[in-house]
Amino acid sequence: MNLGIAGRWALVCAASKGLGKACAQALVSEGVNVVITARGEEALNETANQLRALNPAVTVIAVAGDISTAPGRAAALAAHGHFDILVNNAGGPPPGDFRDWDREAWIKALDANMLTPIELIKATVDGMAERGFGRIVNITSSAVKSPIESLGLSNGARSGLTGFIAGLARQENIASCNVTINNLQPGSFDTDRLRNNLIEAAEGLGQDSEAFLDECRQEIPAKRFGSPEEFGAFCAFVCSAHASYITGQNLLIDGGAIRSM
Ligand code: NAP
Repeated sequence: MNLGIAGRWALVCAASKGLGKACAQALVSEGVNVVITARGEEALNETANQLRALNPAVTVIAVAGDISTAPGRAAALAAHGHFDILVNNAGGPPPGDFRDWDREAWIKALDANMLTPIELIKATVDGMAERGFGRIVNITSSAVKSPIESLGLSNGARSGLTGFIAGLARQENIASCNVTINNLQPGSFDTDRLRNNLIEAAEGLGQDSEAFLDECRQEIPAKRFGSPEEFGAFCAFVCSAHASYITGQNLLIDGGAIRSM
């Protein structure tokens, strides 16, 4: 299927590895020009070169910076004159016990996983509406549907974003202008973050980490973790010309892990 987005411009945040990188790869494969961001410059440049090799016909711009800060966002937005596609992503907050989190920990989580996506949407959505095409995807988490106890900072910040998006996506001057805003909710995808979180959990329980990872896989109906590539492919479809009637949705991609109808 031709996704009908070749030549478009996308800003893909937090994309030197993991789910963000996979989204950038899928978009670049479809002929989309991308601006990618991450804090670590070396890994980001390496990813940019891989993307250029994947599709030499597109332009790939790497902007190193912390997307949860105002200068980081300004640098990313300044890299190209306009964006047709915005993929909001950032590292997830650390696990822990809410008794240990002070105001600063909460503000950091809110900045990265709620307020940064809102700021980037504010900077891009009206231009998308004027041009009659826009696709905004926020990478959130299945934890918004079924909270993960130890990830309270994530549960809280992402739920705030989800509530805000539910209203925003349906505003007439957005929804009627071929601008869609959706949240993708990953379950367990095989990335550094997932592995590190699970290994830490295994160590906390005094268990062998490989055996613990296997147990986690067995709890998922699909009996495996998702691959970043399949996440990226789904993201590219949601950003496609064909997905113009899908908006304001929370799209769960979890191998059947969340038991709900
Ligand atoms: P990952 O493999 O650790 O990759 C995170 C990427 O984001 C890296 O490129 C990292 O590069 C970049 N990044 C992190 N913080 C950033 C910041 N403040 N500014 C710019 N770039 C930043 O993580 P992932 O598994 O892909 O997860 C992506 C998001 O999905 C996270 O919010 C995570 O909580 C959420 N999620 C993941 C899963 C899963 O199963 N993997 C499930 C549910 C939710 P630098 O460190 O160099 O900046």
